Amino acid sequence: MIGAATRLAALVGHPVGHSLSPAMQNAAFEAVGGDGCYLAFDVVPGRLEAALKGLAALGALGANVTLPHKEEAFGLCDWIEPSARLVGAVNVVLFKKEEGLWGYNSDVDGVRGALADLPPAGGRALLLGAGGSARAAAVALLERKFSFLAVANRTADRARRMAGDIEAALDRRAVTVLDWKRFHEEPFDLVVNATSLGLASNPWSGEDLTRLVRSLRGAPLLDLVYRRGGGTELVEAARSVGSPAVDGRSVLLHQGMRSFSLFTGCGAPGEAMRRALEEGER
Ligand code: NAP
Repeated sequence: MIGAATRLAALVGHPVGHSLSPAMQNAAFEAVGGDGCYLAFDVVPGRLEAALKGLAALGALGANVTLPHKEEAFGLCDWIEPSARLVGAVNVVLFKKEEGLWGYNSDVDGVRGALADLPPAGGRALLLGAGGSARAAAVALLERKFSFLAVANRTADRARRMAGDIEAALDRRAVTVLDWKRFHEEPFDLVVNATSLGLASNPWSGEDLTRLVRSLRGAPLLDLVYRRGGGTELVEAARSVGSPAVDGRSVLLHQGMRSFSLFTGCGAPGEAMRRALEEGER
């Protein structure tokens, strides 16, 4: 029950009305018997700093930061964990009394956790996309020490920028940029889709989907996209040709679990959070 000692954790973004995070995080507080509650706040561009300072002043445990604020949150933090530094974006902020705002990127943990739901793969990995979530996926893939990481993006310049930023931070060559129209020509041991292709508003073209599925040749696939109540078109197509495949609900769950652990210092109750996500999707 909410009382005088209840501590707040929050989501700040714009918009936030569609988010499944409140259902997932409140289920987690309930499952561990923690005296906390999680609320979503619609914070318009230009108000992030005021929102975070307000939450800090209220003694909140911390906040998830979502679109469009993740890069700005990075610039507001006093300390940033190394993987978030590589991504260049922060999506969890903790409010430390003396040390100010501490920033983390649980999207990296989300991809890390979802990759662990697939059969182990090493060797050559292909990442599709070069937006914010692709950066988090690239960092998680580099941690897994694939011998070769290739990135293909519709806008090649954006892929080159992402590769350049990550390599500058690592101070070594780490990423090969491939032509979007030709990524299917090489074999890979793992494919990760971090484009927004597969959303209802942005469907795959038959041509791109066919050449991606053909290129799998049985390799595991992680699709960061998720859709309410079921797998994505890409995941279904991959499974139909014998590739193990996982969709973005696993990424969402694992990022939520890391966020909860950061907020509370407790292990996250994964099963309760998974059930809350499934119920929230109905
Ligand atoms: P973003 O920054 O807007 O990037 C979108 C990416 O999709 C870009 O690489 C873009 O290529 C590519 N793209 C869009 N339309 C395309 C098309 N018609 N053909 C080829 N490529 C296309 O978005 P983001 O934040 O990285 O998120 C990407 C997707 O990941 C989201 O839509 C969401 O579904 C998913 N996501 C899932 C989770 C989760 O928890 N499961 C978390 C974050 C994101 P260009 O650079 O050429 O425009």
